[in-house]
Amino acid sequence: MARYTGPRCRLCRREGSKLFLKGDRCFSEKCAFERRSYAPGHHGQGRIKVSDYGIRLREKQRVRRIYGVNESQFRRYFEMADRQKGVTGTNLLVLLEKRLDNVVYRLGFADSRAQARQLVKHGHIRVNGIKVDIPSFQVKVGDEITLREKSKDIIHVVQALEAVARRGVPDWLELDADNKKGTVKSIPERTHITMPIQEQFIVEFYSK
Ligand code: SF4
Repeated sequence: MARYTGPRCRLCRREGSKLFLKGDRCFSEKCAFERRSYAPGHHGQGRIKVSDYGIRLREKQRVRRIYGVNESQFRRYFEMADRQKGVTGTNLLVLLEKRLDNVVYRLGFADSRAQARQLVKHGHIRVNGIKVDIPSFQVKVGDEITLREKSKDIIHVVQALEAVARRGVPDWLELDADNKKGTVKSIPERTHITMPIQEQFIVEFYSK
């Protein structure tokens, strides 16, 4: 399935919540969801009765869009999570959190996951000193995430690092902002994911 390239704010309005896909703009009064918090399209403001299936589908789509993962990849993550020990929903969120593009975003090297994905794909990111240009790369405890020397002064990176104070860096990561270096201190836990996500709906969606 092709990657969605349309307006990102439309996705927030479709899912009925802020997905924080556009960095700074999401925290400003220009946020489209703040101004029009109803679904896009002609019938967006109509009263729509959502079925149980619809609720589960929307939750799956919402999380998939937050992390910028396409459907086949997302299903693969679910299958991996299901094979692992523990709670499938939590395993799924942990797998998504450990993606390199998410870690780059969480550390504040990028303003959004889309920007982080681009930094990774364009070869700006090093893991333990080695170039990794695969956004889905899974980080491990002890991994050091840095920027290529020449990329440390990219204006978007500098601005994103200034803005990270507003979001904060989760406890499972450590940021050395002066050296633009991040370290994976531990495996993320469910409590580290503070966005309101009802992962059991995703499990129920795929378990039908
Ligand atoms: Fe969503 Fe951000 Fe657009 Fe607001 S500005 S609608 S949070 S992508």
